[in-house]
Amino acid sequence: REWCFALPKVELHAHLNGSVRNSTLLELAKQLGDKGVIVFEDVMDVIMKNGRSLPECFKLFDLFHILTTDHDTVTRITKEVVEDFAAENVIYLEIRTTPKNNEAKGMTKRSYMNAVVKGLKQVEAVDVALFDSNFRTNETLNSQPAIELDGDKKKKKIYVRLLLSIDRRETTSAALDTVNLAMEMKDQGVIGIDLSGNPVVGEWETYLPALQHAKELGIPITIHCGEVANKKEIQAVLDFCPQRLGHVCCLNDIEWKKLKSLMIPVEICLTSNVMTGGAPSLELHHFADLYNARHPLSLCTDDCGLFSTSLSNEYYLVATTFGLSKSELFQLAQDAVQFVFADDVVKKSLKQMFKHADKSLV
Ligand code: 5GP
Repeated sequence: REWCFALPKVELHAHLNGSVRNSTLLELAKQLGDKGVIVFEDVMDVIMKNGRSLPECFKLFDLFHILTTDHDTVTRITKEVVEDFAAENVIYLEIRTTPKNNEAKGMTKRSYMNAVVKGLKQVEAVDVALFDSNFRTNETLNSQPAIELDGDKKKKKIYVRLLLSIDRRETTSAALDTVNLAMEMKDQGVIGIDLSGNPVVGEWETYLPALQHAKELGIPITIHCGEVANKKEIQAVLDFCPQRLGHVCCLNDIEWKKLKSLMIPVEICLTSNVMTGGAPSLELHHFADLYNARHPLSLCTDDCGLFSTSLSNEYYLVATTFGLSKSELFQLAQDAVQFVFADDVVKKSLKQMFKHADKSLV
């Protein structure tokens, strides 16, 4: 476990509101309980419960959003989520979140995202590097990019990028707003688009114009795919050929074959998939098949708060379930660098960080 903790890691699939600390959720629930907005005891039971089916997860997200959706709280949870990932030696983090309009709170998608960016600026425990030469900007928050900090042992450093999620409940026009916002905020760390939300809700055709628009603008895209069996949509997603896919649990033989021939990198979320029933067990998780086929993949947490996991734990699970050696785990972590949405300068820096990792890890 300690070894997996010390390993430098790349996290590509982490939902902001699914990664909030339980202690923070409880504190927020207590405050809203005191104001009479919710019944604290009911909410506490739900937050502390362990088993989570897929429909339960989406009910929980509605609850989390009641707790977290005001500007100051969004800023707070962003700061905490970055600090938590950095504390377990994540050196590159893509946080995805759904920009939200909330009239009652005076919140627009833009002001929500401004609150997220403010949270990145408030991180103190680690150096956050937001820097992307793709967009010809050279902005760093708090500090400089990690590559210039090599040798500085005082503070950990982490690259952070933001992906804007389209929620499957949204209309075409709302989805297009999110894509346009991503373009507007490309110099503030926003680097891609995600399609997520309850997989039994909504139609592919609703989001397709927005995803197509993102593709035309050259914005990298990742899509939640095959969380439930949905032949028509899985086919359409594979035909769309995004830069990455999340989950890919419920594919049939023809779809597996197609995925493998397309070589689309997969964000693997072991604990999430087992808890929500996307995979029958850890042992029977499709990680093994994809890994053995040398398919590009990266281990991710999905919602480390909701599923009480961490990226270190996901590596540990792979080691204990599938018997990967330390050098294979190191290689797996390092290979994820190829699939980040950040530019080549960042990739080069990350490769250096792996190269200079503690020799005892290799
Ligand atoms: P947020 O976007 O509000 O920061 O993070 C929570 C949201 O992420 C949820 O409301 C949901 O739309 C999406 N999400 C989180 N985990 C999952 C998952 O496992 N599958 C899917 N499809 N969506 C998820």
